[in-house]
Amino acid sequence: MNDEITIDVERLSFKYDGPDVLRAISFNVRKGEFIGLVGPNGSGKTTLLKCLCRLLKPCGLIYIDGTSALEYTLKELAKIFSYVSSEQPPGSGNVSVFDTIAAGRTPHMKGLWWECFEDEKVVLKSMELLSVNGLADRRVNELSSGERQRVRIARALAQQARIVLIDEPTAHLDLKHQFKIMRMLKDLSKSGLTIVAALHDLNLALAYCDRILVLNEGKVFAFGKPNEVLSKELIERVYGVKTKILMDKELDRMLIVPIE
Ligand code: ADP
Repeated sequence: MNDEITIDVERLSFKYDGPDVLRAISFNVRKGEFIGLVGPNGSGKTTLLKCLCRLLKPCGLIYIDGTSALEYTLKELAKIFSYVSSEQPPGSGNVSVFDTIAAGRTPHMKGLWWECFEDEKVVLKSMELLSVNGLADRRVNELSSGERQRVRIARALAQQARIVLIDEPTAHLDLKHQFKIMRMLKDLSKSGLTIVAALHDLNLALAYCDRILVLNEGKVFAFGKPNEVLSKELIERVYGVKTKILMDKELDRMLIVPIE
């Protein structure tokens, strides 16, 4: 991570049909930073991710590398951001895993698929990273939820965007794959990829994120280093849950334990 700001958000607000669900949100993200977006259900995490990549059109200002997001074309935005939804199936479902992940190359492709050797290499590398290479010929709608989640993430990596916005990366994953994916995201951020991930598990946020943004009722409640932000007082106020925070000396890491 360096000090260069890649996303700068100023007074972002958004509403669907009713009242504002995001209110005057301001924060910035440095290049190569791994940001965890946390907060209770309905606090606005998914909406904020969608606003950042302009799937939704908020009020307020978003700058990407110093330029207003409004000045980028959709094709340029598709090269800057890849968004991994927690809801939608990856692709149409009735196509192969390989073709679904290859669709991530669309913003880059200059010729026909069989002329794009480099694109194929990127797809194969993404499949390997997410351990879905053994599933290449399977139909996506025949996969388990966890396998589908890994296909979604592989497609996002194949897109080779500079910023990955990812909603609940560990949803549906078993313990091994949760850790594997968080470690992989951390390593990718160290090599320069900027990541903003909505997370439910505060211990994963503590272990892997550089900074966390706590959303509550559509507002920024706190933003900073995980071990400075996540206090038992904050968790009780934002989540309404009593916890104990333990320090694991061996791991040199805080652990949040519910005590209710
Ligand atoms: P989170 O991701 O933190 O659970 P969301 O961003 O999904 O929160 O939701 C924030 C608020 O916006 C919630 O009150 C939710 O009901 C509302 N909301 C989300 N999506 C829609 C939508 N498509 N139409 C109307 N309201 C929505």
